[in-house]
Formats: sequence, structure tokens, C-alpha cells
Amino acid sequence: MTSEIEFANRIYYNYEHYKEKSLINRRFKHSDIIPLIEHLNKSEVFSLTMAGESAQKRSINLIKFGNGKTKVFLWSQMHGDESTATMALFDIFNFLGAFDGFNDVRRLFAENLSIYFMPMVNPDGAEVFQRRNSLEIDLNRDAAKQQSPESRILKETFDNLKADFGFNLHDQNILYSAGHTFKPATLSFLAPPVDYEQTIDDARSNSMKLISHLYEVLSVFIPGHIAKYKDDFEPRAFGDNFQKAGTSTILIESGGWKDDPEKQFVRKLNYTALLVALKSIAEKNYTHEKIEIYENIPFNEEDLMDMIIRNVTFKNNGIEYKIDIGITRTESNFNGAKEFHHESAIEDIGDLSIYFGYEDYDFNGMEIFPGKTYSKKFSSISEIEKLNPHEMYSQGYTNIIVNSDSSGFYQKGFPFFIINPGQQNPSEIKIGKTPNFILKMNDKVRYVVINGFLIDTEEI
Ligand SMILES: [Zn+2]
Repeated sequence: MTSEIEFANRIYYNYEHYKEKSLINRRFKHSDIIPLIEHLNKSEVFSLTMAGESAQKRSINLIKFGNGKTKVFLWSQMHGDESTATMALFDIFNFLGAFDGFNDVRRLFAENLSIYFMPMVNPDGAEVFQRRNSLEIDLNRDAAKQQSPESRILKETFDNLKADFGFNLHDQNILYSAGHTFKPATLSFLAPPVDYEQTIDDARSNSMKLISHLYEVLSVFIPGHIAKYKDDFEPRAFGDNFQKAGTSTILIESGGWKDDPEKQFVRKLNYTALLVALKSIAEKNYTHEKIEIYENIPFNEEDLMDMIIRNVTFKNNGIEYKIDIGITRTESNFNGAKEFHHESAIEDIGDLSIYFGYEDYDFNGMEIFPGKTYSKKFSSISEIEKLNPHEMYSQGYTNIIVNSDSSGFYQKGFPFFIINPGQQNPSEIKIGKTPNFILKMNDKVRYVVINGFLIDTEEI
């Protein structure tokens, strides 16, 4: 194990050499990866085939490295908005295509493994950054019926390869915690079941052993941040069917990490995990691992929210209550799904002591007021910038009406929440409402929350 951790450290700390610099955030498209795939064609270590086309005629490609006996198949982004592992696969191509101090590892892979990569199985979904494909079918519930061309391509490739190992690469909700803790489940693994009875056959046993190995090695980098995905049998999912067909299948779900909204750290962990896994398969050392380690990995739990403010005093009909408020932020795409803004909502109110916030504040002694809407109408965002936020907040205003089409305008750190003429006040202390609040300490405004983001009034 010491040498495995040494190897993981070496590739982890040399990551920047191999990081694919043209992929900088999660919302890249098929047209961004095609030049990178074409570039691989120039290298003699890779061989490329077009496996097929999506419903909207985007190519789905298969990239091969190595000529060894053990076959490994990795596919990513069958859900269009789950792109973290795709970025890591391009980092791995850079690693495999380089010529440097890691040549011994490349030789080990090339001689023992035939590695097949299928990045971005759902390019049409990626184009609009949505889970489902252009037919609104969830590809991971289409493994049995295979009505989508993308599902058929994945299944045909799988059938042709009959790989020994399969890696099913996804992203999961960043609000999953690793067990009942405050730690996000940054990586979650699963050896998919083959039936409702959770039978452990040879294929699944090997998946479990390999995950035990990954758990031990990756825990060096993210202790307490690794979980197990829920293991209910899903007869319509690819992982479950592939495992059943005898390919040792490993599901890897990329979750959240504080202050990593574009998942660039989680991407680096994927790169590390996959290279560690490939080395373990090439050397067959996973066979020495115990499945008990896998079985003891905590499950994903839903104990996280984006922000929790605790112990605020709220007056309603003259009565004082002390409450916690939990907030979640949903991403909403715009500009051809190249950008997004957040739509935040109050998720829960009351005693939230069993939950944790990525941002978690104890505001004991402060009084909370739902933000009011300023009566004057403005014609543009730039006009609002002349307003003095301190004056507006002291009068209780957080919401500003703008006549022009600025619906959905939200910029992190912008001091006001923009609403359209005629729109009702969205900010109340109620579940589902927009978190726009004023927080006062001794009758003086101390913090403001706009669209679920905290503003410290001493810093503006
Ligand atoms: Zn997924």
C-alpha cells in the first residue's frame, strides 16, 4: 500500500503538467472536445474510432490506448450536465500521451491493458447542459429498451468489447454528505448490484475490492469525503446491467467540494482515482483487498445545504421565535447554456441542528426581516448602481423593480434582487421563497442576504 500511496502522490502533485488547459469549467460542448480528440489521432499511442452519432448527429468517439490482455472500458457524461469526469479523461489523455519520468507507468498500462475511453456519451445533453438527451430520455434508464441512439452506441460498444472492468462516470448532487457528517461526499463509489438480493458474484466482488483500494488511497487526499452511492438494484441502468453481464463495473460520482463551483479540484481527484485504478488493475493488486472495506464506506446522506443561518430572531404578529433557516441554490442556464445564474430558495425553517451548511453562520442575537420591494421603478441595471445600498437596507429594501427585460438577472455580490413590474414580493420567510433578508444587530443592519448569498455590510 505504501508504494500505491507514493504513486498516487506523484501523479497528484504532477497534475498541472497534464491538465487539459482548454477545458476550464463544466459547461464545455462537443465542439470543444472534438479538436482535442482529433489531436490524439496524431499520436501513435492512441487509436480512434467513431462509435456512432447522437440523435442530433454529434459524433460519439472511442479512444484506445494499449494492447494488453485485460480490457478496461471507461465512459463519461451519459448525463449531459455531469462533465467533471470528461475533463479528467482529457487530462489522462495528456498523461498517457506524454514522454517523461512516468514512462514506466505508461509501459505497464500499454503492455497489460487495453483501455477504451468514450468521453461525453450524451453530447446533445451537454450542448444545453441538461441531464437528459435531446429526446428527453434519461440514458441511464434506457439500458434495457435502448430507444436512444446514444444508449445503443454504449451497449454495442460494451457488447463488442466484453471488457473486464467498466467505469461509469457521473456527477452527483453536491449536497450529498459522506454519512451523517458536515463533509460533502466529494467522491462516491458503487459496485452496482446484479439483482434485488444484492448477490456478490465474481464480477461484483472484484469491483468491491477495487473500490476498497481506491477508498484507502484517495482517503489520503480527502479523508472523510468518500461515500458509497445508494445500492438499490435498478434494472434500467447501465452499470447494473454491465455488472450482471460479467464486467466488473465501478460507478464513480463526482460530488461537491467547498469553494470549487466548477469542480476543478474534483476533476483532479478523478484523474488521480482513475490512474490509481488502472495501475491496480494492471498489477492485479486489488485482488488482495478486502470487500469489508467497501462495505464499511458510509453511504451518501442528504445532510447538507448551501447555506444555513442559525438562531435568528424572527417576529411574527408580535411574537418572537428563534429559528434556523436553510437555503439551497439551483443553477439556471442562460446564454446558450454557457453561463448560469443561481435561483435560491428557502429549503427549511426551524431546528436544523442535524443539517450542515457549506456556509454555516450562527447569528444568535440578530433579528431577521424579509426584504421589501422599493416602490420606484428603474429602466436599467446601470441606473440601480447609483443607489446607496446602506440607505436602502436601513429602510428595509432588498428588491428593486426594473422595467427592461432583465428578468433572471443575478450577479453574485450584486447588492439588490431584481424583479419585474407587477411581480409579487418574492421574499418572505417561507419555504420555497427567495432568501432576501435583512439581519439587524441592536437595530443596526449587519448582514444582508440577496438571492441566498450573504453580504457583509461592513465590506461594501
Ligand atoms: Zn448521472
